[in-house]
Amino acid sequence: MNPDTPATASIRARPQRTYSMLIDGTWCAAADARTFASIDPYTGQPWALVPEAGTADVERAVSAARQALEAGPWAGSLPAYRARLLRRLAQLIADNAQELANVQVLENGKLMREVLAQTHGLAAHCHYFAGAAELMHGHTVPISIPDMFTYTVREPVGVVAAITPWNSPLSLLFWKLCPALAAGNTVVVKPSEITPVSTLVLAELFEQAGFPPGVINVVTGGGTVGATLAAHPQVDKIAFTGSTAVGKQVAQTAAARLARISLELGGKSPNIVFDDADIDRAVNGVLAGIFSASGQTCLAGSRALVQADIYDEFARRLVARAQRVKLGDPLLEDTEMGTVACRMQYDKVLRLIEAARQEGAQLLCGGGPPDDPALAAGLFVLPTIFGKVQSDMQIAREEVFGPVLCLIPFTSEDQAVAIANDTRFGLAAGVWSRDVARVHRTVRRLRAGTVWVNTYRRTHYSMPFGGMKESGLGRENGLEAIYEYTETKAVWIDSGPGIADPFNPRAG
Ligand code: NAD
Repeated sequence: MNPDTPATASIRARPQRTYSMLIDGTWCAAADARTFASIDPYTGQPWALVPEAGTADVERAVSAARQALEAGPWAGSLPAYRARLLRRLAQLIADNAQELANVQVLENGKLMREVLAQTHGLAAHCHYFAGAAELMHGHTVPISIPDMFTYTVREPVGVVAAITPWNSPLSLLFWKLCPALAAGNTVVVKPSEITPVSTLVLAELFEQAGFPPGVINVVTGGGTVGATLAAHPQVDKIAFTGSTAVGKQVAQTAAARLARISLELGGKSPNIVFDDADIDRAVNGVLAGIFSASGQTCLAGSRALVQADIYDEFARRLVARAQRVKLGDPLLEDTEMGTVACRMQYDKVLRLIEAARQEGAQLLCGGGPPDDPALAAGLFVLPTIFGKVQSDMQIAREEVFGPVLCLIPFTSEDQAVAIANDTRFGLAAGVWSRDVARVHRTVRRLRAGTVWVNTYRRTHYSMPFGGMKESGLGRENGLEAIYEYTETKAVWIDSGPGIADPFNPRAG
């Protein structure tokens, strides 16, 4: 185990606690009392125990959510009521931001400074969607039928299953929870088995904010629990973030009963650097795009496409900075890159690095774990860059979800766009150029749900986020997110003489 510094010792010194799930306003163990451990990827040690839910627990959670939707203070509630609860929650998050950040770092090894900023961002998210609760306008429709008054209303979809991954457990949960609750749905959350504790700690705040029992339920466990929840006939909508492979399974499950779905899936996003770009700015942007969070972000800019005439200089500067990235304890302020979140992901990253070597990709830096004994207990992978990668190599096509970058040279704008779009994914892209006309042309031609220009990896509660192609379905954030959690009802009111001819409703 790594020696802790005094600053971090108190966070890691907490006694191992067994957490409970929240079902119908009650904190409980799994019905069959099974548990599993949460492992700190920096120390390799278990630090918490969490219930392993079974079918009976999922059943209880879904039926509590259904009950809260149909009766009690939440059922048919006023938007102002839901907004008030979301605002109370925002305050509780601000008051408890440090503890929420602590548990996230212990769970997945992400840097404290990033996690703390993300956690404060959750409060802003609550405020935005509290406002949105009262903006779910329908329309009056100026229909061309005499004496007919027509309008639409937006109603909650019903019981939402929110299934989340481990890389940003609370932020990605909030992208679902806030619009779902603002719109009046009830929710059963299934966090990743790698990062269940932060969601359970957060659930305590929902309770304190005054959300009625059954409105938010949390069941913990692995993929089987997620699959059981997704398949439950009383779940009206599945909001899923995770891998494309599992997303497709969830879509198939949903299709059997036409449950609503939104899917936020994987990516292999291109970051295109043209020869007129501000190179220093682009180097920083490309680094931030792939090495922040140790590359474990869906929107990682894992392919840097660099114009041939600046390729060598760009690669030189990029590699020099990547080799100076400071790996270390994610709790410490000066650490630039933490660990990979779990052993399974660590093994996958190393396997894909080895495969890239085998297929002839040119290793420019990194390529495996650091040889620093102080980091030996943690799941560290050095910032890794492969040069002159060809688009048909596995390393250029498959999502690594780790700190591994492919550098791909290109000669023309057309070629850059063709390489950028030559992927089954379509989550995000970056464009680095000072030429406004080129920027507009390129943005239009890229098949990606988000395009950043002269910046990268920015998200905000007011900007829609989601993927094209195999990166997903639907959008989170922004007012568009509300539509994902509502059904439109069309209402017709006839104030005229009525139906004159029952067999020809258009007559009269
Ligand atoms: P994953 O697909 O393995 O798991 C995601 C969640 O689904 C977990 O809670 C897991 O327990 C659950 N699950 C597993 N099998 C299931 C099944 N058969 N039915 C229902 N649920 C099941 O993904 P992960 O490894 O946790 O996360 C990494 C992936 O998530 C990457 O591919 C990444 O790109 C993607 N991701 C996407 C976004 C986005 O917004 N597009 C954001 C973050 C992560």
